[in-house]
Order: sequence, then structure tokens, then C-alpha cells
Amino acid sequence: MNKQELIDILNDDTKNDWLFKKADRIRHENVGDEVHLRGLIEFSNICKRGCKYCGLRSANKEIERYRILKDELLIYAKKAVEMGYRTLVLQSGEDDFYDTDKMVEIIHEIKKFDVALTLSIGEKTYDEYKAFKDAGADRYLLRIETTDKNLYKIMHPGVNIENRFRCLYDLKSLGYETGTGCLVGLPNQTIESLAEDILFFKKLNADMVGIGPFIPHEQTPLAKAQKGDFWLALKVMALTRLNLPDINIPATTAMETINPKGRIIALNSGANVVMPNVTSQEYRAKYEIYPGKICINENPEQCRGCIEGKILSIGRTVAKDKGFRRQKQK
Ligand code: SAH
Repeated sequence: MNKQELIDILNDDTKNDWLFKKADRIRHENVGDEVHLRGLIEFSNICKRGCKYCGLRSANKEIERYRILKDELLIYAKKAVEMGYRTLVLQSGEDDFYDTDKMVEIIHEIKKFDVALTLSIGEKTYDEYKAFKDAGADRYLLRIETTDKNLYKIMHPGVNIENRFRCLYDLKSLGYETGTGCLVGLPNQTIESLAEDILFFKKLNADMVGIGPFIPHEQTPLAKAQKGDFWLALKVMALTRLNLPDINIPATTAMETINPKGRIIALNSGANVVMPNVTSQEYRAKYEIYPGKICINENPEQCRGCIEGKILSIGRTVAKDKGFRRQKQK
């Protein structure tokens, strides 16, 4: 689709049902009915950045910070593998405590479990990304957040969008399955820029795209801003499926945070991945990028059971393989 077509659909709510059904069909035809579960380990909420929307921003003195060190992290990893996860995702704030040596050691240890490993630890240099890749990391998630240059600048003090693009192209060139995505509903974000976001996912040939509504956090400068619209976020996600038919698309936690059935609706509108948390309740609550995060009172076993039940209830199954992108040969 071209930019104008994307804008027209995003602006027209009379065809939403058609769009969601079509995205569901394209998902079925291209990646099948299996849902891939990725076990998420949020291992540090310490962050040097100041992203205006994020509760982990360094200026937030209200949250209790934590780091999960290697030995404890490996306990969660092992438990997740025993529960059947075939992919683990390590996510954190931008925490320089985990330098290249520490990350490489963790990656080596986790790869011994015979799982696919995704990192989501922010902006690094080419050499750092290369070291992680050489150590065995398979995938990397780094949302562009928004492709609107002005909005990006306002939302991310002290960094620039060119470096974020550079990171994504480095990751691609190093052979990572590269995930990106955007927030929907940031203050002053335009429909036009959301269309540009989708075109960027296509241009990058992203292997995974995560879309979530913006949720205001009390201890950020955007505390009083309006939250993102669930249906608009869902439309951006469905359009992403239409334009990149064979990629992996998660039903994001943020979707479920603003709509109690959010993940099921997303799975029925183009999504084929869910990322349940596999750390303890204590850490889940403290990894507060936005408030009201779901499942903070559940342990990893309960989460797994709950999400598996939901997946089966809509006639889908849980995949047993590592869930790499099944790119169609052109
Ligand atoms: N430091 C890593 C991980 C960031 S947390 C990185 O820079 O990639 C993962 C994602 O949470 C972010 O990419 C962002 O899109 C999302 N997020 C952060 N704050 C949010 C908020 N207030 N509402 C919704 N999503 C948010």
C-alpha cells in the first residue's frame, strides 16, 4: 500500500471489521494458526535515558530500581525452558552495568539451553551488536517508536533518530532477526506519521513488528496526556500484517492493559506471537514502563497456563518450534 492508502484506511473507521478480518486471513495464509510464545525476562529497570513516556526514565526517582545478576537470571531462563519456551527475550533499560563482556557471558550460558535468544537492551555500537551476535544472540528488538523526526526529538531528549535508524540497519546487516515497532497515541502524533511508520517497517524489511498504545505514566512529563486509542493501535497492527504478510507480530501487553481482551482481539486481527513474563512478581511490578501492567500478581506458571488457555479457546495452537520468521521465497 502507498502512504495515501494507509492514511485513508487509518482515518476511516467504517471498514475496521473488514480490515481486522483481512489481517486475520493474511496471518492464517502466511504464518499459520500456531502462536509463538516468547518468555520475557525484564532483567534491569535501570536506565540512563530520558524517554518522556517511559516510567523507567532516569529522572524518575519514585521507582525502586533492580538488576537481576547472571546467576539469578539463569534460574529464570532454566525455569522458562522447562515450561516449554523455545525463545527467551532479555529486555532492560539502557543499563551500562551490563557491558559487552557481561552480556556475552549471559548469552553464552543461555544458548546452552538450546533456545532462540532475543535481546532488547537499546542502542549500542555496531561492534557491541556484533559481539552479541557472535556469542549466539538470534534476534533483537528495538522499536523506532515514531518515524516523525520532530516528535522523536521531543520524546527522546539527548539522542537522535539517525542513530536509532543506524542501529536497526546494523542489526539487519549483522543477520539478526530484527524487530521494531511504534507507539500509537503519543501526544501530537499524526495519522500521516503512523502511515510513515508502517512504510518504514516495510523498507527495513522488519522480521518482527510490535505495536502498542501509549499509556501515560504518573511519574513522567506525559502524566496528564491522553492515552492511546486501542482500536487505532489495532489498525496500525493489522495494516502492518497486510503489508508484511510473513513476519512475526506480537499481541502486545500494552494492548491488553487498555483492553481486557486486548491480546485475544489482536491474535484475531493479525498477531501470531505472545510474550509472557517469566520472572517473579516482584520484578514485574517494578519494571513499570507504564502503569496497570497486566499479570503482575501471577507467577510464570500461571501466566503460561492462562495464555495457553486463551490461545486454545480461539482455535489456535501453541507452536513447539523456535518460531523464526518463515520468509516466503520470492
Ligand atoms: N530500553 C529498550 C527497551 C525499552 S522498553 C529499548 O530502548 O528498546 C520496551 C518498549 O516499551 C519501548 O520500546 C516502548 O515502545 C514501550 N513503552 C515505554 N513506555 C511506554 C508507555 N508509557 N506506554 C506504552 N508503551 C511504552
